[in-house]
Amino acid sequence: MSLEEYKKKRKFDNTTEPEGKVAKNSGNRFVVHDHYASHHHYDFRLEIEGVLKSWAIPKGVPEEAGVKRLAVQVEDHPVDYIDFQGKIPEGQYGAGEVKIFDKGTYKLVKEEPDEVGFKLDGQILKGEYVLIRTRMGNKARNWLIIKR
Ligand code: MN
Repeated sequence: MSLEEYKKKRKFDNTTEPEGKVAKNSGNRFVVHDHYASHHHYDFRLEIEGVLKSWAIPKGVPEEAGVKRLAVQVEDHPVDYIDFQGKIPEGQYGAGEVKIFDKGTYKLVKEEPDEVGFKLDGQILKGEYVLIRTRMGNKARNWLIIKR
């Protein structure tokens, strides 16, 4: 796991986002950020192997069973990002307000390169989910998130 891409995209003198490093120990937390960037979206982040694996979900994590949503994998974020809220300044990567939509813990059910299954226990989001890599348009970063 590496945060190189995360660091490359940001100027830490100009943003209050955490610089962070890969954590030695990994918990089992998740967060969903509500991100008012140039295109409003949600960011779903799972604490895995010392980083937050992250997906941008334009329509948000589904709350109803059977609903599928596009989830575009983005760069790993530092674990400290789990508590981040605030305004990313104009001109910076991801400029705009970031709020926490939901957070909690999860239990991993399945972990394969193209499929991650987990059970969320948040304040709002609860239940079993699966992320499936689709390679839609040959983009390896495109996944679907589905509530079971
Ligand atoms: Mn975002």
